[in-house]
Amino acid sequence: MFHVILFGPPGSGKGTQSERLIARYGFKHLSTGDLLRNEISNNTTLGLEAKRFIDSGQLVPDEVVIGMISDALDKNPDAKGFLFDGFPRTRAQAEALDTLLAQKGSAIAVFLALEVSETELTKRLLNRGLTSGRSDDNNETIVKARIAEYNAKTSAVADYYRQFDKVVLIKGEGLIDDIFSALCREIDAKK
Ligand code: AMP
Repeated sequence: MFHVILFGPPGSGKGTQSERLIARYGFKHLSTGDLLRNEISNNTTLGLEAKRFIDSGQLVPDEVVIGMISDALDKNPDAKGFLFDGFPRTRAQAEALDTLLAQKGSAIAVFLALEVSETELTKRLLNRGLTSGRSDDNNETIVKARIAEYNAKTSAVADYYRQFDKVVLIKGEGLIDDIFSALCREIDAKK
């Protein structure tokens, strides 16, 4: 099993690059943002609880997303490998993920971190908000709160994986094809 974390601030291109990586390598995609939005559209209790955090640009509590990931891992015992997108976002989530994978005799192979400037992120998110239908993309206050959450809680996740020498930084600005090639080079080097 070969598992990858695609990491980066909101708007860094994780969704776009995930789609391509899945097509190339056959990973099972696990995006906590997508899983949460799915819960919201199905009007589940979990979805209702998560919505108020998402709508204010804050992180959903760790136990909620860790529970979702744990279920997803159990539901996909035959996956060749997982691509984690938007998870882990806190150190507690990272530790929980390592434990869950270790219980299955597995581990993260590489942590790929997309780097994009804050001005570019804000521009991309507000632009995406014009078409994505995501209420957390088209409001500048929420966009700024999401970037602040990333700086306060999520960026430290890279330090956690750095101690295991798993972090590779990738420039997330420029042509989508070039960024994709850089990601593939790193995955191929670890395979
Ligand atoms: P995303 O689609 O990854 O940008 O996530 C959208 C929103 O869902 C975030 O702003 C958070 O409110 C919530 N969310 C997604 N993934 C996580 C996570 N791993 N931990 C906490 N909250 C999350």
